[in-house]
Amino acid sequence: MQAEQHLPFELPPVTFYPGPSKVYLQLSRYMQDAFTQGILSINHRSATFMEICRKAIEHTQAKLNLPDGYKVLFVSSATESWEIIAQSLIGRKSFHLYNGAFGQKWMEYTQKIHPASNGFQFDVNQALSPDDIQVPADAECIALTQNETSNGTQVSNAIITQFKQKYPHMLVAVDATSSLGGIKLDFIAADIWFASVQKCLGLPAGLGLLIVSPRAMERAREIGDNTYYNSLLFMAENIEKYQTHYTPNVLNIYLLMRVMEEVEDISIIDKRTRQQAHAWYHFFEKYTSVSPIVTNTAVRSDTVIAIGADKQQIAFIKERTKQAGIIIGNGYGSWKETSFRIANFPAISLQEIQDLQHCLAGVL
Ligand SMILES: *Cc1c(COP(=O)(O)O)cnc(C)c1O
Repeated sequence: MQAEQHLPFELPPVTFYPGPSKVYLQLSRYMQDAFTQGILSINHRSATFMEICRKAIEHTQAKLNLPDGYKVLFVSSATESWEIIAQSLIGRKSFHLYNGAFGQKWMEYTQKIHPASNGFQFDVNQALSPDDIQVPADAECIALTQNETSNGTQVSNAIITQFKQKYPHMLVAVDATSSLGGIKLDFIAADIWFASVQKCLGLPAGLGLLIVSPRAMERAREIGDNTYYNSLLFMAENIEKYQTHYTPNVLNIYLLMRVMEEVEDISIIDKRTRQQAHAWYHFFEKYTSVSPIVTNTAVRSDTVIAIGADKQQIAFIKERTKQAGIIIGNGYGSWKETSFRIANFPAISLQEIQDLQHCLAGVL
């Protein structure tokens, strides 16, 4: 191997990209510890790994306030969770409520496995309500994207609960990829939750969490899927022993353990996230050249702030923030060129927020 090469950056740029996003600064120390303690080479069937796995799960359960009996499973990504849910938790048909690119992709991935699955597309400014939407009686699972990263909208805990109450015989599955770890989620209101770690959990990409209720496990046993390497029953069997169904991302599980051990309780993080989101929206109200994509304040995301403007203005803002050493997120999907996105994730410091606001104040 050649001598160590230096990367082209002196210091990492400040990033507000909503995934992969800024990682917790403590990772520098945790990664060094992982190296010196030999974690990078441990066997995934060893007692050391099982201990790390157990602690990562237990700290996650404690800090996120997971209900008793909810299992935490390690997967590679949120995308893998979409597929696992289709394979192992849906027999024939799911019903998807979506208003943006990620929710739509989830439905499309599911339709490849279950062509009968369908959904309802709602407007970005519409607050979902079970009174307005008739979920087909033969759907087994209602799929909701709690935080739609592409357009900066969110579905409240109260609304998820209402769907659960109106359709008690169906499973409710929630994509919380860009909110889990950033805001308080009412886990009891749904049976399946998932996220990848490179968003609100402040970790590098390559690991996902799939959280399942006892009821979802019961449904998995009824369906009995055991066809795939990542069939839920097989994964659950392994995690009982604090092992995984394949050689996992051991470093990331270790980092999750360290982060979850040290972060504050989600109720404290939640409060700060919401206050900062409020401050961000308030900040943009001062300017007429830009405005949040979402005009209905009741459905605006707390963790991903999506701001629209005309194409030239967006290009100008991105150029100027880049010159200041700050990366902001591009628009996504149909909003690609007419918006930018700002992650409001817990690993981002107040100082960085102030620096970005200072920079934006000179541009807007
Ligand atoms: C980022 C994201 C995904 C995809 O995550 P991967 O880790 O790339 O699989 C899915 N859903 C939402 C809402 C996201 O923000």
